Amino acid sequence: MNIAIDIDDTITNTYETMVPMIALFYDKDLNKLLHNKPSYKELYALPRFKEFSDQCYETIASIAPLKNGVVDILQRLKNEGHKIIFITSRNNQEFKNPYQTCYDYLTKNQIPFDKLIVNASNKAEICLKEHIDLFIDDSTKHCQAVSKKGITTLQFNSVFENNSKLNKVTTWEEVYHQVQNMYI
Ligand SMILES: [Mg+2]
Repeated sequence: MNIAIDIDDTITNTYETMVPMIALFYDKDLNKLLHNKPSYKELYALPRFKEFSDQCYETIASIAPLKNGVVDILQRLKNEGHKIIFITSRNNQEFKNPYQTCYDYLTKNQIPFDKLIVNASNKAEICLKEHIDLFIDDSTKHCQAVSKKGITTLQFNSVFENNSKLNKVTTWEEVYHQVQNMYI
């Protein structure tokens, strides 16, 4: 199968990395932020957010920790003959060179992949073009759009995107089992 995978909050804990940096940048109470769990939409609406992203996105992208077990599971899927295609909406407005930033992170962390696509605003179109069989992403918007094209989706659970009716997973081990179930 061709498996499309998102990066932020799907293979990495990006949100959890960003929140403490938001607290520092805006001089806010970290405990309160962690408690309130502001959505990305709310964070983007903060004043000077462009300044924050210019200063901090590269750092966040390079230090965000991987989710548990992801390297092992992706290696197993690759060994079983699946193709792994990362599709991320990280773009040239937020990163100097989004491809290089992602490529360096993936290789540094020994994550197997066959292709990396950045600047992906319309993931559904890209999935059709790349003949994707399974799409894994934390975003409700992207999962719904891809699902509408008839492609199977798995939505990685995140702290605030939890009220859609999409197929959900919370761990990479679960992703692995779902992939196995697709053959039965
Ligand atoms: Mg994401």
